[in-house]
Amino acid sequence: MISNAMYSLGAKRSCIRELFEYGIQQAKVVGKENVMDFSIGNPSIPTPDAVTDAFDQLVQSEDTIAVHGYTPAAGDFDARKAVADNLTRRARAEIRPDNIYFTCGAAPALISTIRALAVEDAEIMVIAPYFPEYRPFIEMNGCKFVAVPPDTRAFQIRFDELEKRITPHTQALIVNSPNNPSGVVYTVETLQRLAEVLTRKSKEIGHPIYIIADEPYRELVYDGADVPYLPNIYPDTMICYSYSKILSLPGERIGYVCVPDVVTDSKDLFAAIAGASRTLGHVCAPSLQQKVIARCVDVRPDLAAYDRNRMTLYNALTSYGYRCIKPDGAFYLFVEAPGGSSRAFSDRAKERNLLIVPGDDFGCPEFFRLCTCVSSDMVQKSLPVFRDLITAVQPQRQAV
Ligand code: PLP
Repeated sequence: MISNAMYSLGAKRSCIRELFEYGIQQAKVVGKENVMDFSIGNPSIPTPDAVTDAFDQLVQSEDTIAVHGYTPAAGDFDARKAVADNLTRRARAEIRPDNIYFTCGAAPALISTIRALAVEDAEIMVIAPYFPEYRPFIEMNGCKFVAVPPDTRAFQIRFDELEKRITPHTQALIVNSPNNPSGVVYTVETLQRLAEVLTRKSKEIGHPIYIIADEPYRELVYDGADVPYLPNIYPDTMICYSYSKILSLPGERIGYVCVPDVVTDSKDLFAAIAGASRTLGHVCAPSLQQKVIARCVDVRPDLAAYDRNRMTLYNALTSYGYRCIKPDGAFYLFVEAPGGSSRAFSDRAKERNLLIVPGDDFGCPEFFRLCTCVSSDMVQKSLPVFRDLITAVQPQRQAV
């Protein structure tokens, strides 16, 4: 017999993957240059030279075990130290190597952290719009998925709705800023208010409500936007980080969980995360990648190409009459679908070989997401199609 739950998860691809794979097939029919694929968040800025140089040097080494051998499950000590020292410098908070657990990217970091908190009847909250994979990560690891409805005006947090959903079973809230799909960075005021609510509610229910900060886009910000270091605002925060996006390494699978000492029961929590990772078959994160990261903790690529796409699309789409918040981070634009249904709008766009992701799976069905980590040629090619699509739904726009 086969597990129905696992079968359904595997047989039904995510909406993003479905569109992405459709794009590959459609390229064979109409030509790659004629498919405008804005579906998947695959970083398009080249991996920085410092990273590829570190790879080159490491693979030349004759010390096979040092480069390719197993490391301790939490990671190579020097690599953890490099990350911890870097965080200490940047966050002005003391982080030690023992607070860092290397993982194969943010996804397993999140799953291990969720599993570590999966006591009986545990509830994990998310804020819409949210990364669609949160649902299987939470539900398939024994917890209840609780979503806070979106603030579709500013894409900050609806505190009335958040408070209503906190129960004695609430174990954690996932906070993703810069946000996928909205690109919004939560303001200091939002995070301070969140800390106030969670502190009060934790006291009320008699145990901490942890924040799981999902931060693969932390340094992907524009116009000098500030992403506050959350443990300085709310100490019960674990950080799930990934190098996938910032170093353009999504297929190489490297990230970490950081459990700062200020977190309640931090040592036990760290041990539970290690235990949860063990159940996932985690032996260690890729050894070579750990060592690359140790040499490249401060490397940042030039984000100008993402920024240009962000501004070109934002300015053009809003001038055509689309409603959309200007993103301060990540590489997405989250746009209100003319006509109300993002699924119907995405289907119409697909007929023109323009692939955009409907917002249903992000918990926000009136909006669609487009990735700005694409070529500028594709952006230019898409603009007349975006204009035609809104004009077809709202003909009065043509006169504007
Ligand atoms: N969290 C968010 C918000 C993401 O957008 C992604 C990937 O797109 C992940 C987690 C998973 O990242 P990783 O590739 O490091 O597992």
